[in-house]
Amino acid sequence: MKKRIVILGSGESGTGAALLAHRQGFDVFVSDKGAIKEEYKKQLDAHGIAWEEGQHTMDKILKASEIIKSPGIPEKSEVMRAVRAKGINVIGEIEFGWRYAGKCTIVAITGSNGKTTTTELTYHLLKYAGLNVRMGGNVGNSFATMVYSDLEHGDMEAQRIFVLEVSSFQLDDIQRFRPNIAMLLNITPDHLDRYDYKLENYVRSKFRITMNQKRGDLFITNYNDPNIADYLKTHPEAIKCRMERVRKSELKNGYARIGRHLAFDIASTPLKGPHNAFNAACAIRAALRLGVEPEVIEEGLYYFTPPPHRMEKVAEVNGVTYINDSKATNVDSVYYALQAMDAPIVWIVGGTDKGNDYSPLFKLVRRKVKAIVCMGVDNSKILKTFKKFKKPMIETRSAEEAIITAAGFAEEGDTVLLSPACASFDLFKNYEDRGEQFRDAVLKLYPD
Ligand code: ADP
Repeated sequence: MKKRIVILGSGESGTGAALLAHRQGFDVFVSDKGAIKEEYKKQLDAHGIAWEEGQHTMDKILKASEIIKSPGIPEKSEVMRAVRAKGINVIGEIEFGWRYAGKCTIVAITGSNGKTTTTELTYHLLKYAGLNVRMGGNVGNSFATMVYSDLEHGDMEAQRIFVLEVSSFQLDDIQRFRPNIAMLLNITPDHLDRYDYKLENYVRSKFRITMNQKRGDLFITNYNDPNIADYLKTHPEAIKCRMERVRKSELKNGYARIGRHLAFDIASTPLKGPHNAFNAACAIRAALRLGVEPEVIEEGLYYFTPPPHRMEKVAEVNGVTYINDSKATNVDSVYYALQAMDAPIVWIVGGTDKGNDYSPLFKLVRRKVKAIVCMGVDNSKILKTFKKFKKPMIETRSAEEAIITAAGFAEEGDTVLLSPACASFDLFKNYEDRGEQFRDAVLKLYPD
């Protein structure tokens, strides 16, 4: 009898896993408690894969010999409790993709902030060097989808490199996944609701990225991150391969220094701000490790286009610079955005608060921010928290209103910065929608 694999959740990762499992000859059933997008339903139907939406039919699910769980489904959910009670093996799509990826090189990137930027940059540098590289995971195509497509096309060359963005939820469901190069960029409190509100659980989850690494692999991390440093001190056994730690002191005067002999000019590239110099230093180390020549890396850096909505310059009008940092959905990323600016800042902030503690921003707000424009349905926490700085504070409820208000405060030489520290779901579809509405509102205010 065919082994039965049940896939819980049918978004990008679930559908990819379903196609791969079906191709590998398993009896596949997909179950999603919400609605499945039309494009995914079509793909499942095209392969004759059974699915259900709007419900979890327990007796169909509990017959599985293995479950592939989408990262969005919490352990506390009813379905997961039933699955655990039955003792069925549960893995994530990253683990499943890994089983069938064949001989290849894996670069896996995690962290609280900077994953997408560093993943895209690493991919870009390797691609620029002419290597056979693919990118995906938590961004773009899922790993399973890419592996499926390689198998379908008979493209299983051992030289293939996968650059994967991996979230902590995805790491929770790996078992043997072993990246040749792993990066842990930073750890700041985020998603704690899924970790019993314990930072230590979240830290442990992030360190799973290196748990299967062995001699010959490389682990790149952050020397100056206190949560990472603490964990390494108390768990020296966690690292079983070569470790390279990027230090702040190596990132000075617009250069990223690596070892004694190499210095890469970051200031002349599109990567702005000290956090991006750090991201670059990590990506460069991976590229060097994979044999890319320093001159090629230097040139590749110059031609990199950073992903949108992350400190993206939208326009400069009447001497005022407008920056879209809509992806800054937590306090730490706002910290870096404020730190990276020299000019007086008109700060657009707000949205759905995820239990933010704004205190790390106080010094920067006092020193750099000249006015605060709140953009959210409920702005009371921001108003209350920042009242003591006696800066002008105005509430707005749309991107257009926020821009008109911000433009009113801004003078020549100032920066209007959208860096919300919050999720976007109160007024917008998602952070991309928020960033696009910001961009449109700026361009509307200043046609041409
Ligand atoms: P992620 O994929 O981890 O969410 P992104 O690259 O999409 O990371 O960036 C998210 C936000 O974090 C953006 O506002 C960006 O400017 C900021 N950011 C990027 N890299 C770092 C870093 N190394 N440290 C702190 N913040 C960062």
